[in-house]
Amino acid sequence: MHIASVGVSKFCFLFSLAFCGLLLLLIPALQPPARQVDLPQPRPQIKPTQAAQSHHTRVPAVSFHAGETGLATRLNGSSVGLGGSVETEVTRTDKRGVDTQKSQERGALPGRKAGGLLGSTSHDPLDLKDIFIAVKTTRKYHKSRLELLIQTWVSRAKEQTFMFTDGEENELRTRTGANIINTNCSAAHTRQALCCKMSVEYDKFIESQKKWFCHVDDDNYVILPSLLRVLSSYHHSQDVYLGRPSLDHPIEAAEKVRSDGSVSVKFWFATGGAGFCISRGLALKMSPWASLGNFISTAEKIRLPDDCTIGYIIEALLEVSLTHTHLFHSHLENLQKLPTDSVLEQVTLSYGGFENRRNVVSIVGGLSLAEDPTRFKTIHCLLYPDTDWCPKPKPRHNI
Ligand code: UDP
Ligand code: MN
Repeated sequence: MHIASVGVSKFCFLFSLAFCGLLLLLIPALQPPARQVDLPQPRPQIKPTQAAQSHHTRVPAVSFHAGETGLATRLNGSSVGLGGSVETEVTRTDKRGVDTQKSQERGALPGRKAGGLLGSTSHDPLDLKDIFIAVKTTRKYHKSRLELLIQTWVSRAKEQTFMFTDGEENELRTRTGANIINTNCSAAHTRQALCCKMSVEYDKFIESQKKWFCHVDDDNYVILPSLLRVLSSYHHSQDVYLGRPSLDHPIEAAEKVRSDGSVSVKFWFATGGAGFCISRGLALKMSPWASLGNFISTAEKIRLPDDCTIGYIIEALLEVSLTHTHLFHSHLENLQKLPTDSVLEQVTLSYGGFENRRNVVSIVGGLSLAEDPTRFKTIHCLLYPDTDWCPKPKPRHNI
């Protein structure tokens, strides 16, 4: 009897032990599943697409902007039209198309340091006042070119746009309130004079503390909302050099800064006539070769124009790649080929000079070609219809 009761309690003890073990095993299974949404998610990384990497081979062949070097051959308007595939990309204005375009512009040459992948976060959105826009001009173009810019896009970015010229302009400054800077550089269209202006532009930008440096010529229209959109997809503290390559291949020059010129160096550069932008982070790194007159001596050493010298410092000396974009335009392209419905999506536009007056973008608005030969006023009125001098839409008559 005693032995039997010991057996029963032993069995009960073992049974309750096994039951507890089973319960322990079941606890995790009985708990409600963890909510996936609460888990931190990795940030999606945008990798340069195949299209972006091969984009360099599809860049239209155009000449050097300044066209002063013996290496440069200026092509006529018809032969420098946009490549077919580039046009197809530009025509896409739907959301998917624009996103694809953006990610392609973020792409850089494989194996090189490149522009930033991270854009401004929602905590730090880029504002127009963060961009320093330098316009290169000269005395003889104050009336014929600069006035039009002051009347149009510059009026919407007055505080951050600076016009670099070679003479005093008190009347224009007083009348329009524009920021006109006399560089005291020569008014000649020589490499030295143009590099002198670029050198002053660079120093003023560094002084300004702004996040982005953008350079344009006085025959460029800057579509400010597009500029802001494109720069917002990068970060100013990263190395970003954004523009349109002038040639379909890198330029080759004798390396005279780091060696005696017996070796050559190949690099891409953005054509100044279409405008280009540089992040502050990268601009600061350029300082040894660009600040306080050093830009002029660097350009002298390699004997190339201002826009090529910028490319040389960034690509060859700092080993940062130019981010190729097809949103910047000079009059060396056939501007009529730009699809009408994509014009307002571009970042910069231009118009043909004396040699090709008809090389303008095709856009329709309330102003005729005679009233607005450059089409800049028409573009401006489409972007800002509230402008006082824009033609008002005709009232519809009810019958
Ligand atoms: N420019 C200048 N000095 C001159 C002639 C031109 O600073 O003696 C500037 C001009 O204002 C413009 C840029 O250089 O911003 C390019 O000039 P242009 O459009 O006449 O020539 P291209 O585009 O054919 O190089
Ligand atoms: Mn020009």
